[in-house]
Amino acid sequence: MKRRISIIGSTGSIGTQALEVIEKLGDKFEIIALAGGHNVELLKKQAEKFKPKYICHNSNCHSEVENNMGSFASLKMTKAEESHKYQILHGPEGLEQICSNKENDIILVACSGKIGLKPTLTAIKNGIDIALANKETLVMAGDIVMAEAKKYGVNIVPVDSEHCAIHQCIKDISKVDKLIITASGGPFLHKSIEEMKNATVEQALAHPRWNMGKKITVDSATLMNKGLEIIEAHHLFGFDYDDIEVVVHPQSIVHSAIEYKDGSVIAQLGLPSMHIPIQYAITYPERYEGIKSKSFSFAEIARLDFEKPDYEKFPTVKLAYEMGKLGGTATVCLNAANEEAVFAFLDGKIKLYNIYEITKKMCDEHNIIKNPTIDEIFGVDKEIRIKTKEFITNL
Ligand code: MG
Repeated sequence: MKRRISIIGSTGSIGTQALEVIEKLGDKFEIIALAGGHNVELLKKQAEKFKPKYICHNSNCHSEVENNMGSFASLKMTKAEESHKYQILHGPEGLEQICSNKENDIILVACSGKIGLKPTLTAIKNGIDIALANKETLVMAGDIVMAEAKKYGVNIVPVDSEHCAIHQCIKDISKVDKLIITASGGPFLHKSIEEMKNATVEQALAHPRWNMGKKITVDSATLMNKGLEIIEAHHLFGFDYDDIEVVVHPQSIVHSAIEYKDGSVIAQLGLPSMHIPIQYAITYPERYEGIKSKSFSFAEIARLDFEKPDYEKFPTVKLAYEMGKLGGTATVCLNAANEEAVFAFLDGKIKLYNIYEITKKMCDEHNIIKNPTIDEIFGVDKEIRIKTKEFITNL
């Protein structure tokens, strides 16, 4: 039986790699729908190759192109494309239509930004399993999403390498004491605080281990990415923040680990390739050979290093712990302020270190709503983004 899948964010970094995995796995999958962001040409090429029933354009997938709506409106099917008839859907309504389509066995939510949240909830309510790569879904609304998944008996299998590692390690969650999340440390791990403060966009984007989208790469440079991952881990696995530890591991071979009550530590290791966790998430509980570039060799790797994170240099992680513990909309504020600050950094408006300072200021001033509804979550997200942008403009 083929597994029927839709991909939200098929033209992004995770989406394109997921299609490489699916192509390699041949007849294991049937693609129901592909939803892409602003890269219309790539979405068209993907549709020609993978022949989904639906394609959906959603330029809101990236808030950096929020003002770029309408590019898909000009999409015209050529003669060749007309031979494969796919239905064209648009925007958030299109995503809702895809995620309520019970033809899907699983939906890979691979877009970045808050646009991932509502479609994920819709899929859950329709009993469709989720392979989750979108961070905002859990950072903004982890309590609601996990409660709904439980209610509808839906599996949420994480795609992110760290959570995927933990998912692979856990056999009996009731006997696990602690989660240990590894962090590569990014490009500034062994640079001075001064060097980091004055880093250029190019330096921040030069990640030593992972090739990812711009926003997440900057988050990896400030370690905010690890902060967001702690919050996700808290929701996914139901662990207290005090039982989630971060350790810096520059080689990115140990993708994360868990410690059982008896002191046994189980870690998941592998070469740093997103193909592996993506494949695991969309094929779970099966395992296939798929894209395996080469066999793992301890002797070739030779050494694995670990160190404590330097919270003076990377205060974002501490801030994420604090906001996570406060709960409610605290993490919505953290996420929104950080994202707007990252975009301002990428636009050359602020320095790298300002990202933390601005995010911290917004968090300090935020009045937390304890048990927010989805509408309240989006309301806070919007309000914080406006406030952050205004603050940056007035700097
Ligand atoms: Mg990660």
